[in-house]
Amino acid sequence: MKSVGINGYGTIGKRVADAVAAQEDMKIVGVTKRTPDFESKMAVQKGYPLYISVPEREELFEEVGIKVTGTVDDLYDEVDIMVDCTPEGIGAKNKEIYKKQGLKGIFQGGEKHDQIGQSFNSFANFKDAIGADYVRVVSCNTTGLCRTLTPIRDLCGIKKVRAVMVRRGADPGQVKKGPINSIVPNPPTVPSHHGPDVQTVLHGLNITTMALLVPTTLMHQHNLMVELENPVDVEDIIETLEKTPRVTLVEAGKGLGSTAEIMEYARDLGRPRSDLFEIAVWKESLNVVDGELYYMQAVHQESDVVPENVDAIRAMLELEDDPAKSIEKTNKAMGIVG
Ligand code: NAD
Repeated sequence: MKSVGINGYGTIGKRVADAVAAQEDMKIVGVTKRTPDFESKMAVQKGYPLYISVPEREELFEEVGIKVTGTVDDLYDEVDIMVDCTPEGIGAKNKEIYKKQGLKGIFQGGEKHDQIGQSFNSFANFKDAIGADYVRVVSCNTTGLCRTLTPIRDLCGIKKVRAVMVRRGADPGQVKKGPINSIVPNPPTVPSHHGPDVQTVLHGLNITTMALLVPTTLMHQHNLMVELENPVDVEDIIETLEKTPRVTLVEAGKGLGSTAEIMEYARDLGRPRSDLFEIAVWKESLNVVDGELYYMQAVHQESDVVPENVDAIRAMLELEDDPAKSIEKTNKAMGIVG
């Protein structure tokens, strides 16, 4: 049983903690928090030992009666690997600390590929991470693109991808981000950084992306145009995506015509925090015209990268060398059926 620490128990960190705790071959030995807020309190209630990431702030936790096990320095001695879920830019600095401690580390999509040195997606390049010391799980948007493009590439080859991403302005719990009344090309330059990010894991894929921000918190929405190398029928694509784990086909005709309805579906599934770990592809949107595949998909930004973090732990700690087996184990423990 391998010991895992979570540095930064926020949107991604708390979900990764629960996903790791559900697995049979790894356990959570501690999570870190900076602030003695409700998330700190709930971490303790869930039974996760709580460590303070900024030791000088210990008094703040004592003042509100939150039980602390130690500081992040104490946690380093307890773990086989640290999953760093701190805000963008902090992970790269933490990497230097983990190096000094002789610790393996997983980072999130807010960090730059070059600073971590290696990026990860379970479907695209699991084997590259076997035994690796430092790996970055690609962002929520990139994970969504890789999940569907990898099986399509394997089925019929891809000449070129063009993708337009409609991105949520903020996560549901974020009060200081936006926009609240605007559509913002973001970045305003073309191509956006998402295409090069996909190429860090799907090496050699010809992909160009554009992105904009809209006033919604629920999900991202992607629009893809894929020039195929070998002609296939749309039925072949449907069959392939139906067989692909962590991808689910949804139908507008059955009441799932929007991101709002898809998240309502996730609530009805009774998933923790109403998460939808799978990428939802609109079945009606799939079409092949003149050798080019078109489709639309929705990405639950708060949760799609979570199972990938679990697979990355398994690869880096050499608990499994077969990506399909790791994906199956992770999914089974997390109740992912799609
Ligand atoms: P978040 O702000 O929700 O959580 C970050 C947590 O880290 C908070 O609990 C914060 O208190 C804590 N923290 C802050 N400074 C710290 C420090 N110095 N040491 C330890 N902990 C510290 O952020 P998030 O949305 O979970 O994002 C984390 C990473 O995941 C980022 O790289 C982000 O780009 C990436 N990511 C976010 C999403 C998303 O939609 N939220 C999706 C995919 C990837």
